[in-house]
Amino acid sequence: MRVLISGAAGFLGSNLCDRLLAEGHSVVGMDNFVTGSPDNLTHLAGNPNFFFIRQDVSNFIFVPGKVDAALHFASPASPNAESPKGYFNLPIQTMKAGALGTHNMLGVARSHQAKFLLASTSEIYGDPQVHPQVETYFGNVDPVGPRAVYDEAKRFAESLTMAYHRYHGIDTRIVRIFNTYGPRMSLEDGRALPNMLKQALLRQPLTVYGDGSQTRSFCYVDDLVDGIIKLLYSDEHLPVNIGNPVEMSILDFAKTINRTTNNPAGIVFLAGQRAVRDPQVRQPDITRARTLLNWEPKIDLEEGIRRTMPYFQQKLGIR
Ligand code: UDP
Repeated sequence: MRVLISGAAGFLGSNLCDRLLAEGHSVVGMDNFVTGSPDNLTHLAGNPNFFFIRQDVSNFIFVPGKVDAALHFASPASPNAESPKGYFNLPIQTMKAGALGTHNMLGVARSHQAKFLLASTSEIYGDPQVHPQVETYFGNVDPVGPRAVYDEAKRFAESLTMAYHRYHGIDTRIVRIFNTYGPRMSLEDGRALPNMLKQALLRQPLTVYGDGSQTRSFCYVDDLVDGIIKLLYSDEHLPVNIGNPVEMSILDFAKTINRTTNNPAGIVFLAGQRAVRDPQVRQPDITRARTLLNWEPKIDLEEGIRRTMPYFQQKLGIR
């Protein structure tokens, strides 16, 4: 296949480019570097199967040559209010990437009669009242809350994807991605893993927001990419959760990072740092991924942290 990926210079987009190239496909990567980094793609320079277009996905897209699949991964995604790359500080771009960007990528898929895959998110469940989250749960999102720019844009994107599927017969997929980490994640995006792994490697105390009782479930990027590829190759049009179902409190997560990195500096609780509408719990129900795709994650958190450390050490200039 010749695969178009928006957000190709991002954490997930660039890992997906590598995987698709390794599987023998050719890739057209697209990015405007608002949150992605050219560093994530430099290793592909000179690869005859990789072609790059610098462009904002929310503007009209023209791709020379054929496209067999269009994968929409472009969006700011960090909820951290202090990060300049987080969606609190890029609210209009976030809504445009989710709404206009999805429309444009669906337009490319339609004009090329290509498959379309939407990178959706566990955030469409909001602060969930059903736990763990099954795909049939409609979510609990405040449409005017601070996270709405991301959550509602992704909810709209899912609706638009299904509209193109039902009305135009486009061969679409929707993956709901839960918390994911690994090499090429931005050290500066303010999320739990980059913040804490960086702090641990610098021998600083880890910053736990609130009392650390809120839960998340962290998936290593290679597992996530496996799931996305399996979904792309499947015939499933309705949303599929892809994430690691092992749920833990953020406090236990911090302890695991300190243990795995031998960081003696401990933990500091920052009660006031917890964001408004920060979900209290999050855990994917992956029954659909297990049964439809025969997929489940294989890499546990300690192993994933060990695999992510060299990238962080290199970025921090330490060994
Ligand atoms: N968090 C934390 N310390 C940090 C960064 C994040 O305790 O340095 C918490 C945050 O309040 C949230 C959880 O970790 O409850 C996961 O946050 P993240 O920013 O990774 O993304 P989210 O899962 O909320 O989308």
